[in-house]
Amino acid sequence: MDNFTFHNPTRIHFGKGQIARIADELPADAKVLLLAGGGSIKANGVYDQVKSALGDRTVFEHWGVEANPDFDTLMPAVELCKKEGVTWVLAVGGGSVLDGAKFICAAVPYAGDDPWQILVDAGASVKSALPLGTVLTLPATGSEANMASVISRRAIQEKLHFLSPHVFPVFSVLDPETTYSLPPRQVANGIGDAFCHVLEQYLTFPAQAAVQDQFAESVLRVLITEGKKSFDNPTDYDARANLVWAATCALNGFIGSGVPQDWSTHTIGHELTALHGIDHARTLAIVLPALLEAQKPTKLAKLVQFAERVWGVTTGTDEERATAAIAHTRAFYESIGIATHLADYDVTAEVAPLVAKRLADRGLTAIGEHGDLTPERIEALLRAAA
Ligand code: NAP
Ligand code: FE
Repeated sequence: MDNFTFHNPTRIHFGKGQIARIADELPADAKVLLLAGGGSIKANGVYDQVKSALGDRTVFEHWGVEANPDFDTLMPAVELCKKEGVTWVLAVGGGSVLDGAKFICAAVPYAGDDPWQILVDAGASVKSALPLGTVLTLPATGSEANMASVISRRAIQEKLHFLSPHVFPVFSVLDPETTYSLPPRQVANGIGDAFCHVLEQYLTFPAQAAVQDQFAESVLRVLITEGKKSFDNPTDYDARANLVWAATCALNGFIGSGVPQDWSTHTIGHELTALHGIDHARTLAIVLPALLEAQKPTKLAKLVQFAERVWGVTTGTDEERATAAIAHTRAFYESIGIATHLADYDVTAEVAPLVAKRLADRGLTAIGEHGDLTPERIEALLRAAA
């Protein structure tokens, strides 16, 4: 196992009725920015619960954070916070609202001239942030308990991430009942995103981390079984509760401690969203099987372990088991309605050299846990995903 420092400071309030805990978390004199998306929280009653917990605190609202939150949507909220002296940000929604809130929290006290630099330098220039609380309504990203944020800027066709310990939420409320109103497409996206988060930290080699491995395998199995139950019966509380907690555990830093991490599926997937607007989870489903096929030689031992412990494949050569694990993974995405080829999204193989070049232009010429995914190999695997 590699050396690591594990620190996750986010307080989680999990379960029915826990939105009321906001009343204890926010100081009585807090000036709060409530950040929200397109309106789902009004339709499902979450907004009313949040307003009631906020009581008579001073609250400013900023609505309209879209899926793949855009820099140009967020900057007016940054200005509002500065003008009104906002002291806390409360994000209520899915990963996009939470990620957008993290950007706002970092951008308000930002000392540099241009807050886009936060994305360009991946968070290195973030020295402080407003405190953040969240109410998560979509199990997927893990943003509710991590220090990552992904921001798009459609005006220049970019989608970049930043990391900063300053943007860990102080607290997050996870009430599985708030997710009952999710349409099946978003439930699928959430399962598919969380599944890939685990694999980007688990399907790496070499690693001798039994706790992290077996925890990761548990999360994968729960995503498969409880995901299916959540699909078939959207108001099965226990299935939802397990799905929500699995998605948080998939990306709260625990399973990634002391092991090599990959993240090349996400890095390539972000380009497909930037160029073609494909849902985040769907870009992962396109890239992941092709990438695992390309990386089979270096990931072989882990793919064999994944085949056996998650998919129950116990016969065949190592090569056959690894191939079966990749086939099961593709079939799993397709079983929840997520297509796994570029053509399913009306995108041709022409995108392959473009993605490779865009990454190379940002200096990303050697990605993956071994730094062995070159522009040529990225292009080839995307052609294979056509
Ligand atoms: P999302 O973009 O936040 O939300 C997708 C849609 O779901 C929105 O239209 C939203 O509607 C709706 N929705 C959310 N909660 C709902 C509910 N309870 N009932 C009905 N509709 C609901 O989806 P996401 O998958 O959570 O976030 C995706 C973003 O996160 C991408 O930008 C991705 O790159 C990023 N990401 C971040 C991390 C990280 O570590 N920070 C990791 C992976 C991905 P409303 O707008 O009306 O609310
Ligand atoms: Fe993701």
